[in-house]
Amino acid sequence: MHLLLVEDDDTIAKPLVTGLEREGWAVSRVETGEEALRMPVPDLVLLDLGLPDLDGVEVCRRLREQSPVPIIVVTARGEELDRVLLLEIGADDYVVKPFGFRELVARIRAVLRRSGRDATAGTPPEVSEFGRLVVDRRGRRVSVDGEDVHLTPKEFDLLSFLAAHPGAVLSREQILNEVWDTEWWGPTKTLDVHVASLRRKLGDAASIETVRGVGFRFAGPA
Ligand code: CA
Repeated sequence: MHLLLVEDDDTIAKPLVTGLEREGWAVSRVETGEEALRMPVPDLVLLDLGLPDLDGVEVCRRLREQSPVPIIVVTARGEELDRVLLLEIGADDYVVKPFGFRELVARIRAVLRRSGRDATAGTPPEVSEFGRLVVDRRGRRVSVDGEDVHLTPKEFDLLSFLAAHPGAVLSREQILNEVWDTEWWGPTKTLDVHVASLRRKLGDAASIETVRGVGFRFAGPA
């Protein structure tokens, strides 16, 4: 599954590429409309309308002439947004900046699904076992030694995300974007509170390591 991100703003594009790759998608990023039109046809295009060279609406129209690739338009808040026009020129959906990362991922999956493409690539397995710890995403249940551990919804989401990437260092920004769907760089104390709570509830059945200055790593059973 290959996404093309057309976005000239580095501060938006860079964390977005990282986040989308973590979802299991291959991502190519270009900064101009001309480049976008020259790229091989991907499985989906994320198209910023405010581009430095061509009018994003024109880019969308021309992409649509070239192929039936699904297109999600990204617009800035306050920009004149005519939903009917966007759909007429071939956009499948749109999001307004600043958008939450989870909202965007949900829309990408929905558009891929509607277009008949496989939207499940990158989805972690429904049940993951780490020694004594079992994380069941389908039932949203966690157990240690076969005993259910009661987690709040956010604690569950946090554990689920960390445990989907065992051994990987996940930055605070990535975790906040994924679990809290906040704007890109919000206050992060909430995250520490939830990590502390998970550590207390899971005991030595799981190790969530603090990586100083970066974020956290789920290391499986201690
Ligand atoms: Ca822009």
